[in-house]
Amino acid sequence: MANTTLDPDDWDSFRSSAHRLLDDVLDKMETFRQGKVWNPMPAEMKINLKAELPQNGVSHKELCKKLTELLPYGVGNTHPRFFGWVHGAGNPGCLLAEMAVAAMNANLGGRDHGAIYVENQVIEWCRQMMGFPEKASGLIVSGTSMATIIAMKVARDQRLDFFCRKKGIKEAKLVGYASDQAHSCLGRAFDLLGLGSDSLRKIPCDEQFRMDLNALQKVIDRDRENGFEPFAVIGTAGSVNVGAIDDLESLVGIAEKEDIWLHIDGAFGATAIISDEIRPRLKGIERADSLAFDFHKWLQVNYDAGCVLVRSNEAHLNSFSGRAEYLKETERGLAAGSPWPVDYGPELSRSFRALKVWSHFLEHGVEKLAAVVNENCNQAKYLGMKIQEFDHLELLAPVTLNITCFRYITEKTTCLNTLNKNIVIALQERGIAAPSTTILNGRLAIRVNITNHRTEFADIDLLLEEITKVGRELANKSGKTYG
Ligand SMILES: *Cc1c(COP(=O)(O)O)cnc(C)c1O
Repeated sequence: MANTTLDPDDWDSFRSSAHRLLDDVLDKMETFRQGKVWNPMPAEMKINLKAELPQNGVSHKELCKKLTELLPYGVGNTHPRFFGWVHGAGNPGCLLAEMAVAAMNANLGGRDHGAIYVENQVIEWCRQMMGFPEKASGLIVSGTSMATIIAMKVARDQRLDFFCRKKGIKEAKLVGYASDQAHSCLGRAFDLLGLGSDSLRKIPCDEQFRMDLNALQKVIDRDRENGFEPFAVIGTAGSVNVGAIDDLESLVGIAEKEDIWLHIDGAFGATAIISDEIRPRLKGIERADSLAFDFHKWLQVNYDAGCVLVRSNEAHLNSFSGRAEYLKETERGLAAGSPWPVDYGPELSRSFRALKVWSHFLEHGVEKLAAVVNENCNQAKYLGMKIQEFDHLELLAPVTLNITCFRYITEKTTCLNTLNKNIVIALQERGIAAPSTTILNGRLAIRVNITNHRTEFADIDLLLEEITKVGRELANKSGKTYG
């Protein structure tokens, strides 16, 4: 009698189902411009998803059909007119790497196997790309949120001489600083690390939405007077609202003078360092104590993949190392190769994310990725220029990178915030484009973020046309409703 296994009974039939699915997937990728940007999942499909836990399996043919049915219902970020939040568009090349990843099924917590060497090479490339010293350490993670938690833990532990790894932070009154435009993942990291999100002081910004460094110095001084212990300042390279880059070089100086850790959140902005045009504006990044950034945003790697770099390998190891007996390294054999990735982060079981990043750099090369960055910046600038030509549109922030924030204006309504929110919802629901919204100085902005290698200038023109049309339509409607 055959033993129980999850391998296919009939490999030929499995193979033909897999080939068909591959074709369906490639069709989806090749027709990226077709259809609506966002396809909400139909009610019927949502109902069909609610099923009992299957007791018996289905055929591969049946399974592949179900997988294909799901393909249209992504976020929409594979479309050229997806402009919301900060999403990368991804690219078909990743599919190749992901197939190899699934076939290898490697666990990258540690040990001595090929996948580890690929991850180490990716980290080495990142170290060089960001200008970090040779001895710096790093880890591939899910994204900047996780990278931030790891970086801030090293910063916290180093400040407390690592005793807190065993004893907790006790009475330590550690405080850190970031601009009021900084990403919410920072507050969450402070929360998770037991410091409390209030320990992250929000420093006001100048009119360019960069951290006001005089204000920073005042808050640090005040905190010291009040018995708090400043331990970290976090600079933003590419703020989520408008794409502002803090004055990183000055932050290096302040961090040195105050003897505190400098972390940089460069989720999407740091990766623009590959562009000759942007690189000078990121000066200072190479002197940070730690840096967090994503591959899945501006570099167009498919979700998810991010990276943390830490200047002091020693501090990084001191913050995360310490393995149980059953995980102890040996000098030879499969358990060799220390330090392991698990010595640099909280996760033991880890997927082979690094492979798609490695193969992405191999497939496209940095020059082409830099050209995407430059093109997106030019598109954002173009959009900003066009807005200033129209009376019914108002620019709400300077365009300095890849994000343009603006709004539709009219005298027909008293509530421009509601009108602009409804314009964005209408564009999304009609499948025309998918910008998002944010609030700048109390005003609701239509926020267009371009981290998309598929966006063309014609897409920007179409967006402007449609905003004009939808804006007029909704303003007339609201004019009637509110008088
Ligand atoms: C996206 C983003 C983050 C969070 O990164 P994830 O990859 O989503 O975890 C943090 N900071 C900035 C500036 C971002 O744009």
